[in-house]
Amino acid sequence: MTNQRSTSKQQTPVSVIGLGPMGLALAETLRDNGHPTTVWNRTPEKAAGLVAKGGVRLARTAAEAVSASPLTITCLKDYETLHAVLDSDGDSGDALKGRVLVNLNSGTPNEARACASWAAARGASYLDGAIMVPPPLVGHPGSVFLYSGAQDVFDEHRATLASLGDPRYLGPDSGLAVLYNAALLDMMYATMNGFLHATAMVGSANVSAVEFADLALNWFMPTVVDSTLLEQAPDLDRSNYPGDVGTMRMNLNALEHITRTCVEQGVHSEQPRLMGAIAERAVDRGHGGDNYLAVFEVFKEPTPVP
Ligand code: NAP
Repeated sequence: MTNQRSTSKQQTPVSVIGLGPMGLALAETLRDNGHPTTVWNRTPEKAAGLVAKGGVRLARTAAEAVSASPLTITCLKDYETLHAVLDSDGDSGDALKGRVLVNLNSGTPNEARACASWAAARGASYLDGAIMVPPPLVGHPGSVFLYSGAQDVFDEHRATLASLGDPRYLGPDSGLAVLYNAALLDMMYATMNGFLHATAMVGSANVSAVEFADLALNWFMPTVVDSTLLEQAPDLDRSNYPGDVGTMRMNLNALEHITRTCVEQGVHSEQPRLMGAIAERAVDRGHGGDNYLAVFEVFKEPTPVP
């Protein structure tokens, strides 16, 4: 559901380039919030529903879309696609001069920094960003949108960006938003895999996912998230891992039991084996008597090349 706000005050015109599921949600939300909205997509048919409802104009070229508004939001597949769209259309480069580009595709920090330099060379102000919610949650006040790069651009367009969700500015390094994005998704995939693997383990004894989820998630939040991760985050910043109530060696033993249980029960065992190998590396580095969080020291280094 999107916010229907008053359009009595003229809202900033915005162009949206890229109408995949996410670009469509962005354009629709901007339109619903009273922004005169122009869109462009390689496959123009995808704009049909949006344009039919009114308040959105379909540009014939990417350059025409950029020229239509002081602010252009790009939401394409990746940085390579962004360059393919805006560089192949020679007029887009000229159109960007003196305008603002906010780019919301995912990618790597170096790609984001290169994009900032690319935009600067074309005379555009550039803000990079990352969207931390799926398309149906765009426009909800609590939906997190991360931004980094030019702070003056963020400050000037904060109200427009707030119509898409909760805008969080991370700092002047353009690469920070996609770095946070990759880090948060890394945490999401690891946590989902942890839950799915654990569910497969108890599933081997015919326990249903519904039955397990109730116990597992109600245990996980207070015991692991609140009492361990939130409470001990300051220790990570201090590299302080007192092993007085449990050591890395004890945890390595537990990981070995998990691996052997998986083998016994006939379920996948690579995930606990990998966690065991990481814990072993921490022991090799002298953290055998520290608590489990000392694997953070392993994670801060590149993976050794064999
Ligand atoms: P997507 O499949 O990642 O991107 C689709 C868009 O890219 C369409 O506009 C598509 O044009 C365009 N495109 C792809 N290749 C192209 C090319 N060679 N030349 C020109 N245009 C090209 O779909 P999305 O879900 O909308 O995602 C867009 C960005 O948002 C991605 O970076 C994604 O990581 C990020 N994001 C998505 C979600 C989500 O849940 N969907 C959540 C958070 C962040 P056509 O329509 O012509 O194919």
